[in-house]
Order: sequence, then structure tokens, then C-alpha cells
Amino acid sequence: MLPDYHIHTPLCRHAEGEPEAYFESAKIKNIPEMCFTDHVPNPDNYDPEHRMTRDEFALYRDKIRAVAAMSGNERGPRVLLGVEADYYEGCEKFLREWLPRQDLDIVIGSIHYIRNWGFDNPDEREVWDNVDVTESWRSYFELMGRLADTKLFDLAGHFDLPKKFGYFPPEKEMKAMILPVLDKVARAEMAIELNTSGLRKPVREIYPGLMILEAARERGIPICFGSDAHMPEEVGYEFTTALAWARKAGYKEAVRFAGRRKKPYALPSV
Ligand code: ZN
Ligand code: FE
Ligand code: FE
Ligand code: ZN
Repeated sequence: MLPDYHIHTPLCRHAEGEPEAYFESAKIKNIPEMCFTDHVPNPDNYDPEHRMTRDEFALYRDKIRAVAAMSGNERGPRVLLGVEADYYEGCEKFLREWLPRQDLDIVIGSIHYIRNWGFDNPDEREVWDNVDVTESWRSYFELMGRLADTKLFDLAGHFDLPKKFGYFPPEKEMKAMILPVLDKVARAEMAIELNTSGLRKPVREIYPGLMILEAARERGIPICFGSDAHMPEEVGYEFTTALAWARKAGYKEAVRFAGRRKKPYALPSV
């Protein structure tokens, strides 16, 4: 089984199960390594209903460290400490100061808002029927390009998240807006995750799609795997499918993380 590098905790207010329960689930599934990556507590009252408060970060870190200590005794998966950090206009100053002080193994860079629109929020789904889909994707990938340019993040989270509800631009437009962003991701030496939560959503497809993944491979962009678990049972979700997806795109290796450094490993055969 593969490392799972995208896991939430109830501190984000929309996940269930304590870190110990995620650990037990990973252990049963023979996951060799797991990284908790809960949403960063941003200042400026940014999206407070989907994240812990600044004060709660110490509690988060202590909880993950307590689980990491268990892994030594019970021979479960190795446990890493990470965050999923939103990129948005004006986030850099805070992240540039805050991230290096937290002793993290992984920083996922994600985008959940186009201007004030929570485009992946099921409560705001109907907005998709009233916007220009291609323009919305373009806005998203402009943000993704800027995310990469900050060089603050280790990997891009759910890279083609705008597809979540099944709204796609034409293939040709998609390529034109995405390929230059992949060039930026490569230049920033970031990885891209194969995020299996897309399989649980209306689009029923791993993030990112195959066209993007092949283009990423051509650019030498490394990959890793994440379930985006918000429940203990979701750890390692559909990782066999993800492995086949990576192989289909021509990948033969993936990367492990420790202390925000990458180390390649050979992918098992499907
Ligand atoms: Zn979440
Ligand atoms: Fe996310
Ligand atoms: Fe997530
Ligand atoms: Zn997520």
C-alpha cells in the first residue's frame, strides 16, 4: 500500500473521528505512512467555518504527535504532521512567516474559492449553472499559477477541483489554460497529489484527470497520493485505483516526504 498524505481531523469542523481512529484505519489497511493535513488557521477571518482557530493549532500538533508516538509501539504507519494551506489573494505574508515556524512535513497548497465563491462547496453548487464555466476554470488556474509562483507549497492539492460537480470547459481550452500552470508547478519543484476524493464526488474521477497527469509526467513533476479523508474509513480510499491511474499516465515512481523534503520510491506494479 501507498502513503496517504491528505487526511483531516475534526478540528476543521467538517470531519469526524479522532486522529487515533484514522491511525487505526490506516494500520488495518497496511498504509506505511500517513500525514495529517488539516486546514491552516488563517487570520483575517478567512473562511472560519472550515478550519481550526489559531489557538487550536497547538492542540492539533499535540494530538498528531501523540498518535505519532503510538506508531513506534504498535508498529502502525509512520505519522507525519502537515497542513492544507489555502492560497488566496493576500495570504502570502501570513504563510511566509507562519509556515516555517511549525515544523511541518508537508504543506499542501489548495484553492477553494474563486473570489468569494466557494466553488467546490455543495451549498454553492448551483452557481455553476449561472457562470461561464470556461471563465471560472480560467480564474481558478490563474490562482493556481500564482500559488505555484509563491514557492510556499510542497504540492498542489486536488489540482483540477473545478471539475467536482462535472462542469468542464472544452478540452482545447482546458489545455491552453492548464499547461502553462504545470510549467510553473514544475519550476516551483512542487509535486501533485493523486487525490481520490474525486471518486466520492459527482464527477467520479480522481484529481487530476489523465490529460493533466500525462502532461505533469512529461514535465517531470513528482506525484504522491492522498485520500482527503474526512472520516477514518476513508484513509487509503481507492488507492489501488489511484495506482492504476498513475501507471496509466506513465508514472513509475512517486515521492515520500519528511521535513518538507521529497524522496522518490518505485511504484508497485498494479
Ligand atoms: Zn476539509
Ligand atoms: Fe481541499
Ligand atoms: Fe483536504
Ligand atoms: Zn481538501
